[in-house]
Amino acid sequence: MQWINTRVSELKESATLAVMARATRLKAQGNSIVDMSTGEPDIDVPEHIKEGAIKAMRDRKNRYTPPAGIIELREALAEKFTRDSKIKTEAPSVIVTNGGKQALYEVFDVVLEPGDEVLIPAPFWVSFPAMVQLSGGVSVIVPTRAEDGYRMTAAALAAKITPKTKALVFNSPSNPCGVAYSVDEVKAIAEVLRVHKNILIIADEVYEKITYDGFQFESFAAIAPDLADRTVTVNAFSKSYSMTGWRVGYSTGPREIIAAMIRHQSQTTSNINSVAQYAALAALRGDHQFQRDMVANFDARIGRVMQAVSKMEGIDIPSKPQGAFYLFVRIEELLKRDPKRFAGSTDVANFLLEEVGLAVVPGEAFGDDGAFRISVGSADDVIEGAIERLGRVFG
Ligand code: PLP
Repeated sequence: MQWINTRVSELKESATLAVMARATRLKAQGNSIVDMSTGEPDIDVPEHIKEGAIKAMRDRKNRYTPPAGIIELREALAEKFTRDSKIKTEAPSVIVTNGGKQALYEVFDVVLEPGDEVLIPAPFWVSFPAMVQLSGGVSVIVPTRAEDGYRMTAAALAAKITPKTKALVFNSPSNPCGVAYSVDEVKAIAEVLRVHKNILIIADEVYEKITYDGFQFESFAAIAPDLADRTVTVNAFSKSYSMTGWRVGYSTGPREIIAAMIRHQSQTTSNINSVAQYAALAALRGDHQFQRDMVANFDARIGRVMQAVSKMEGIDIPSKPQGAFYLFVRIEELLKRDPKRFAGSTDVANFLLEEVGLAVVPGEAFGDDGAFRISVGSADDVIEGAIERLGRVFG
């Protein structure tokens, strides 16, 4: 009996989580593994956030919460959207979700009809196409070029729009390339979308606080306020507060869509872990210096890895990311040099793991087989270990 339906049988495991699991397994077996695959910051959750959770438990906040989240957190998030993102919103239009991931999945699930097309610029975060597939939609990849800094141009976007296009996923700063779009670039993209009135914009801003060299992040819906009534903005505590395991994300957008997401959530997960919601509230209300320190650390690590890689052969990082905490390392030269051994990025990633115990994520998973992704979220000694191991192979 074939129990698994076709929709899910075709679903692949998240490549980033799979690499992480493999590295953890090899480590547990006693191998020396340097893991550069993880999409999470190394710093521990700040004490005031933990205290928020402990206090919540002691205050007996251990019950179901409303499906959309506790009202204090929704109000604080509405305030944050209005203050930081310049998106005017109110608590009823805010939903607290199980990580940014659940917010994204819910949006796809509540808006897509079978066969609807979703535009996704490549390289993309691994889960976008998988979620679209789960929701019955069809991903349409908008190509970008490394030479252009992986930036989606208005022309490239326009070329992929069809009468079936239902949504655009706009991830800035992006995973895996760290592309952070300037106001002018966003305006050009908005200009295209203005003409096509039936396209929903799904703005994934989970890396908004992680930018470099003075880049001032501005939200899509703030740059194009006339499109705010068809923009859903997704954010999360995972990356910017180093709270990946707590699973708290949030979203705002058109009231009708948020209301549908709340209904969806009420029938699937009921609510987000109540204690984690109080921790998130403490995070918003607390001191944010750790965030600036964390970003400064990422910046220094990016500098160290880029400098080391610039002296290596067969691999290349063409430009510094403007945001997020990943480096997308080009391997075309290596693939050209040894095509029998390396047919693509997965072969290279397997080779690095098996030969020098270095875990990286193959670019294939992000829609670009000519690269692999490393994360500088790992601790300094892990970064040094990675540089040393990369040097053993490419030095
Ligand atoms: N969006 C992007 C671009 C990401 O890289 C990630 C996590 O890697 C997420 C969303 C989901 O984050 P969360 O852990 O909050 O679900």
